[in-house]
Amino acid sequence: ATPTSIMAGSGRAAEFGILFKGGEHLETTHRIDTVILDKTGTVTNGKPSLTDVIPAEGFEEGEFLRLVGSAEKNSEHPLAEAIVFGIEERGIRVEMPDGFEAVPGYGVRAQVGGSRVLVGTRRLMDREKVDVNAVLNIMESLEKAGKTAMLAAVDGRFAGMVAVADTVKATSADAIRRLHDMGLEVLMITGDNRRTAEAIAAETGIDSVIAEVLPEGKAEEVKKLQAAGRKVAMVGDGINDAPALAVADIGMAIGTGADVAMEAADVTLIRGDLNSIADAILMSKKTITNIR
Ligand code: ADP
Ligand code: MG
Repeated sequence: ATPTSIMAGSGRAAEFGILFKGGEHLETTHRIDTVILDKTGTVTNGKPSLTDVIPAEGFEEGEFLRLVGSAEKNSEHPLAEAIVFGIEERGIRVEMPDGFEAVPGYGVRAQVGGSRVLVGTRRLMDREKVDVNAVLNIMESLEKAGKTAMLAAVDGRFAGMVAVADTVKATSADAIRRLHDMGLEVLMITGDNRRTAEAIAAETGIDSVIAEVLPEGKAEEVKKLQAAGRKVAMVGDGINDAPALAVADIGMAIGTGADVAMEAADVTLIRGDLNSIADAILMSKKTITNIR
């Protein structure tokens, strides 16, 4: 590869909002055969909103929402922000919790006045020995609709459920079709549950999902595919994605995402439109062809 053709290629890519960190990445991107997409903020817009509020029997809705909103008030997780925003929008005043602990990949544990409040996954409820068997059917039906449902408990007892929904980016399905046309396999990885992930995969044409991955597990999943001989591009926007972006053959960070994701990646996609993945591969191919 001549320095001149690489410089020209990098410049052309930059005009399309595709920033290669070094010429070597422009040369190797065309070898990718597998693309792993993070779900939230990558395939979806990453701006979830509160859609369902289902208090358990014996819980008044306003009181239920006050406890859930207050438990989430200190959390910086996008799901928590969506929950708090939606609750305040319903005219309920949320307070700062007296104690708060984030449980990464599971949810939150908080003290709100005299109440111990948990909000999160079924695994969190299992860990804390809260019986939620009676409501799993409702939870599953929300998840099949592509929503993320979260369970809440107060003082060790199931208190209700809230769900949020995120929207798929308008360009995601087309962008994934282009990757398929180029012969690539497209996977999605997420900490969210399998049913929600599969609903979003079906909506966008993604081949398969790796779901319920704990925050530290994404890089391991990339390594497994590499060990099976795949040349992997990881595409993500979050702090959680940084280790996976670093170990992938090509890490692509969404420009609107976390700084640490961009620092760990080889390429930044300024536009956040997944069409930039196919564009980056085409530009890499072109650079290589011009060299020959
Ligand atoms: P992702 O960012 O990929 O959705 P996370 O690993 O951050 O995944 O979270 C996994 C799951 O844990 C979420 O889908 C949600 O069910 C639960 N969770 C995480 N943080 C919170 C929170 N602040 N409140 C409630 N549930 C949460
Ligand atoms: Mg994300």
